[in-house]
Amino acid sequence: DVTINKIAAGEVVEAPYSIVKELIENAIDAEAKSITLEIKEGGKKLIRITDDGLGIPEDEVEMAFQRHATSKINSLEDLSNTLSLGFRGEALASIAAVSQIEMITRPKTQSVGVAIEVAGGVITNKKSIGCPSGTTIMVKNLFYNTPARLKFLKSIQGETGKISEIITRLALSRPDISFKYINNNNIMFTTPGNNDLSQVILSVFQQDWFKSMLKVDEADDDIKVYGYIGQPNLYRGNRSYEIVFVNGRFIKSKLIYHTLERLYRDRIPINKFPVCVLNINIEPTYIDVNVHPSKTEIKFHDEEAISNYLTITLDKWLSKRVT
Ligand code: ADP
Ligand code: MG
Repeated sequence: DVTINKIAAGEVVEAPYSIVKELIENAIDAEAKSITLEIKEGGKKLIRITDDGLGIPEDEVEMAFQRHATSKINSLEDLSNTLSLGFRGEALASIAAVSQIEMITRPKTQSVGVAIEVAGGVITNKKSIGCPSGTTIMVKNLFYNTPARLKFLKSIQGETGKISEIITRLALSRPDISFKYINNNNIMFTTPGNNDLSQVILSVFQQDWFKSMLKVDEADDDIKVYGYIGQPNLYRGNRSYEIVFVNGRFIKSKLIYHTLERLYRDRIPINKFPVCVLNINIEPTYIDVNVHPSKTEIKFHDEEAISNYLTITLDKWLSKRVT
């Protein structure tokens, strides 16, 4: 049903950056080792993502654009239950409902690939094509059929900024995957995909001062903290460089921000913020991720324990080279 698709699309397809996030996550799910993102006009005109992942078998391509959960929505109660599940199996259908898509895909096991075109949720073309293995998906003219929503998008610069933020986080969270980001034909960054986080940090931020960051690598029974923290001469005017992943997921956590900031309070100027790229891997039973999957919140069951552990650990690594 076209109306239901358009309504549901609003939840997954808020703006170009949310499409980028869903599509790159699909490429990651498909075990891609190399992912290229190309955008034009802040993603409003074009988002193209190419991966070298598993590809989609010929007989599953059309199904990938179908909304799996539509039949479950029979009542408002059902709808809210569905919301809490977080739209799994809905991204491609939702994106296709409000844009023009071209996808080319081939699994390694197939000698020819498939090219498919979908506009406003309707398949308009499907044919065999010779292509590399993996998937290229092109999302053109977002919201071309819902002009009211087009109006609510930010400026090109604003939407580009959100996309840059998303791909930066994804690249930092997966140093084992090579990411390439192209904006209006300009290469913004390429990460090597060699599992070296320090090289990803340099690639995405492209500033020499990130070379001075201190390594953190601490593993205990039920928690592991790994990444890089800035020396006290490295600070910023806001929190945008306090980058934290919990169990591989980008998280905004006041608890962690405050813990970090307390640690640096005597070391950096007042009203400045430390810099870090930190991975915290923790026993899943210690956290509550019972929120919408597109949200960046998390609840630690024992906040004090986490805060104390981080303080002691980071202070140790910070003190190693800073007196
Ligand atoms: P979900 O990811 O929750 O399954 P999506 O709508 O995002 O739902 O994708 C639907 C399906 O299309 C996926 O389950 C997967 O089988 C296939 N798919 C999408 N993108 C890719 C990709 N880049 N490589 C391989 N398969 C893909
Ligand atoms: Mg998906």
